[in-house]
Amino acid sequence: MTRLEDLLTISAERSPGSTALIGPDGVERLTYAELDAITHRIARALVDRGVRPGDRVGVLAAKTPWTIASLIGTLRAGAVYVPVDSASPATRVARIIRSAEPTVLLADATATKLVDGLVEEGLSDLTVGSLEAPLAGERFTSAFARSDVEALEPTAPAAVGRDELAHLLFTSGSTGIPKGVMITHDMVSAFVDWALGHFGTKPGDRISGHPPLHFDLSTFDIYATLAAGAELHLVPASLGLDARRTAAFIRDRELTQWFSVPSVLTYLARFDAVAQDDFPALERLLWCGEVLPTPILAHWMRRLPRVRFTNLYGPTEATIASSYYDVPAVPEDESVPVPIGVPCAGESLVVLEDGRPAPVGEIGELYIGGVGLSPGYWRDQEKTDAAFVTGPDGERIYRTGDLARVDAEGVVHFLGRTDSQIKSRGYRIELGEIETAVNTVAGVKECAVVGVDLGGFEGTTICCAYSVAAGAELAVNDMRRAVAALVPRYMVPAKWLVLDELPKNVNGKIDRPVLRERFRPTEGA
Ligand code: AMP
Repeated sequence: MTRLEDLLTISAERSPGSTALIGPDGVERLTYAELDAITHRIARALVDRGVRPGDRVGVLAAKTPWTIASLIGTLRAGAVYVPVDSASPATRVARIIRSAEPTVLLADATATKLVDGLVEEGLSDLTVGSLEAPLAGERFTSAFARSDVEALEPTAPAAVGRDELAHLLFTSGSTGIPKGVMITHDMVSAFVDWALGHFGTKPGDRISGHPPLHFDLSTFDIYATLAAGAELHLVPASLGLDARRTAAFIRDRELTQWFSVPSVLTYLARFDAVAQDDFPALERLLWCGEVLPTPILAHWMRRLPRVRFTNLYGPTEATIASSYYDVPAVPEDESVPVPIGVPCAGESLVVLEDGRPAPVGEIGELYIGGVGLSPGYWRDQEKTDAAFVTGPDGERIYRTGDLARVDAEGVVHFLGRTDSQIKSRGYRIELGEIETAVNTVAGVKECAVVGVDLGGFEGTTICCAYSVAAGAELAVNDMRRAVAALVPRYMVPAKWLVLDELPKNVNGKIDRPVLRERFRPTEGA
């Protein structure tokens, strides 16, 4: 298998002058030769700062060409990068940093306040390298800046003892502590190999880079683009869910591939931002991460009849995607979700019922095996052992927590979750993580967080009901503010209910189905 930084090296040797990365502003551009040279310089800078093979390098920066170069530079140093959501509160990021123990943090100006917050959280010995001008927060000063890196020779240090881990991706954890999924070079390069063959990605392709860098979907954009010698167009985070500007981006950049979570496609369809036969350069449109509602898919397929549409499915623990479904024609029945399809090369999808393969058509729990499987969660053997288990044929498989069935053609259909993990705007969220945060707010007696499908654009709506301890006062606004300091914005409940007592079932447990109903608007209301 190829190491990920070598995918860049090979393309840089083949076509040094081709454009590799185009920044969100459309102005900043790096050719393959330039990107390659920067990654060597960054590797040198990291090694000079004491980064050794296997060490972690935290990355707290906006998605720009230099940030991407810093990820690959980390790999060249034989180290492991940890991209962190710099929009998360310092308390949560501090937990991730404490767990990953990075030797160096690479940051940009967008993260200055956050790094200050980390120092305030007690992380006082951080070595911060700036990807731009020197950073100086209230409590820290950057140890080196972009100009220092640019002054170095573009020769990476000798490649000895590189780590097979490429990066750690922290996802929401049900007990309130984010889990670090360990991703190896082999896992990503196996998927990239399959994807290049399946989609026929070629030099000159213009590929979207939409997901944030802490989402595993972004690794597909980066490494498949670089392996193909294509152009990666980083989508501005400021587009958010602005349908018209997103459509204009696809049109103006003449993208040949768009890949995002479904909510973006839903917005564009609902705001009618896609004209008939729009985006003449677009060849394929891919989505992953959650269900794309079939009426939305049908709308896109009718508007863009020449485009190929592919549903990709898979959890971070099994790398980007494990199965695919090329939608053959506009779905006739819009009430039926499209399948998640068949395994990508080297992967396997197994539906088990009581530990045995479920008969054709029967619902069971979905497990994944094969080349995409992670070695497990960073420094958490217990969680690793609980999620990565032995299958009926003795193979190592990952318990997805998804419900599925396999049809007579061997095609897999996704049917929902077995637990309280939800997706909102593509973000993977454990409701337990939010509950843990709510419970830490002084004055809360009891709380429950439930996901309710209210038919909105963003998928599941996060709803929180709580009761207040005797003598305490806790208005919804105070509660919202307190919780927003503990979890990222996308995890803050959108709906709140203060109750004297939470509803209980016969076993005395919080009755979540009843609670979910309480959040639904009443008929005629
Ligand atoms: P993540 O680790 O963020 O990729 O989340 C993985 C989970 O997202 C899976 O276990 C599924 O519950 C859900 N998921 C991913 N892709 C799809 C898809 N194409 N259709 C339905 N659910 C999906």
